[in-house]
Amino acid sequence: MKKKISEKCNDENCPFHGNLKTRGRSFVGTVISTKMQKTAIVEWVGWYYLAKYERYAKRKSKVKVHSPDCINAKSGNLVKIMECRPLSKTKKFVILEVLGQEKGFKERMEARDEAKVIKKEEKKLYGLDIVNEPSKEELKKQSEKIEKIKKEDKKKQEEEEDATS
Ligand SMILES: [Zn+2]
Repeated sequence: MKKKISEKCNDENCPFHGNLKTRGRSFVGTVISTKMQKTAIVEWVGWYYLAKYERYAKRKSKVKVHSPDCINAKSGNLVKIMECRPLSKTKKFVILEVLGQEKGFKERMEARDEAKVIKKEEKKLYGLDIVNEPSKEELKKQSEKIEKIKKEDKKKQEEEEDATS
C-alpha cells in the first residue's frame, strides 16, 4: 500500500499520516452517509453462497468505516476500504482512497427515500400511528401488528378462494 498523499492531517488513525495499520479484508463500496464525525457508512453488493439452497445470492453489506480528514470522502464516492484494528465497537474498517463517483447514486438514493415513504403509507393504510422517532420496541410492535393483519388478510383470501372453488 504505497500511495503518495501530499496533504497532511493530524488524524492519529490515518493510515498515511497516523499510525493505523491495515490488514485483512478489503472491499470497494459506495459512501452512503458522512453524517458522523470522521466516520462514514459504506455499502457494497456481493455474492454470497447459501448452503441451504446450494447457490449464490446477491446481498448488500454495510459497514461503518473511519474516514480520515485527508481523504475527504463524500456521499456517493466509490471508495476502497480495508480492515484495521477495531476503532470503536462497530468500526473496524478505514477508507484508503476515493476511486471516483458512483454513477446514478443520486437517483438510487431518491428511489430509496421513495420506498421509505411507501412503507410509511402502508403503515397508515393499516391504521398504525406514526411517531417521529419510534423506539425499537414500538417498531417491533408495529411490524408484528402489520404481520398479523397481513396474515389475517391472507387467511381471509384463502377462505374466499376455497369457497369459490
Ligand atoms: Zn491523513
